[in-house]
Amino acid sequence: IRKAMVAGNWKMNGSLELVKQMSDAINDVKSQEMDIVLFPPFPLVPAMIASGVSTGAQTVSENTPGAFTGEVDGQLLKDLGATYVLVGHSERRSIYNESNETVAEKFARAQEVGLTPILCVGESESEQENGQTEQVVAAQIDAVIEKLGVAALKDSVIAYEPVWAIGTGKTASPEQAQTVHKFIRDKIAALDSTLAQGLSILYGGSVNEKNSELLFAQTDIDGGLIGGASLKAESFTAICNSAK
Ligand code: 13P
Repeated sequence: IRKAMVAGNWKMNGSLELVKQMSDAINDVKSQEMDIVLFPPFPLVPAMIASGVSTGAQTVSENTPGAFTGEVDGQLLKDLGATYVLVGHSERRSIYNESNETVAEKFARAQEVGLTPILCVGESESEQENGQTEQVVAAQIDAVIEKLGVAALKDSVIAYEPVWAIGTGKTASPEQAQTVHKFIRDKIAALDSTLAQGLSILYGGSVNEKNSELLFAQTDIDGGLIGGASLKAESFTAICNSAK
């Protein structure tokens, strides 16, 4: 019932040359059964869109156009042809101090202009060690539900990215990830079970072509949000193929 999705977050990496290489590779493995989306840095968004690959932005302003130097408006991204936007990536939360409330505002702005938000959630290493994973993830999701109501999650995607697994080579085991994904789906199902069944929940954190197949085989894991391995055409397309 849920279509697989593989998303590549380039973070502050990439070039026009990489857009060309990667889009050629993706256009070869694209299939109806799967959504492949790339999130390049802002200046590469138009080139990625022109290449024919579904494109999203890595963040978006929570504001409407105005005096916000350095910020990027969602409506502009939408007009250019972007379809998705990441909100609440752990690097935005930790390096740029985005709170759960700010993330909820960005989520709202994305939907207002017709972009699909991918809400990133996940606990830090110390939170995990203290057994706070579910509490932290629940609060990150509740901030959106409190602001917009559970129905807003219908046109969104959730990405579970444990912070301790991001860029560390330390992946959550398939069982560990499945447990959190099921927790997320059950939590939302308690409010709206149909919505929860249709909701895509991606896993992110050191996904590569060797571990992706087992992760994607889990019942509540509907695809992946890939960082480092989305910068190499061979790795990224192998990961896409493992989601089919
Ligand atoms: P890595 O795949 O490099 O661990 O990054 C994951 C991530 O943060 C994707 O958004």
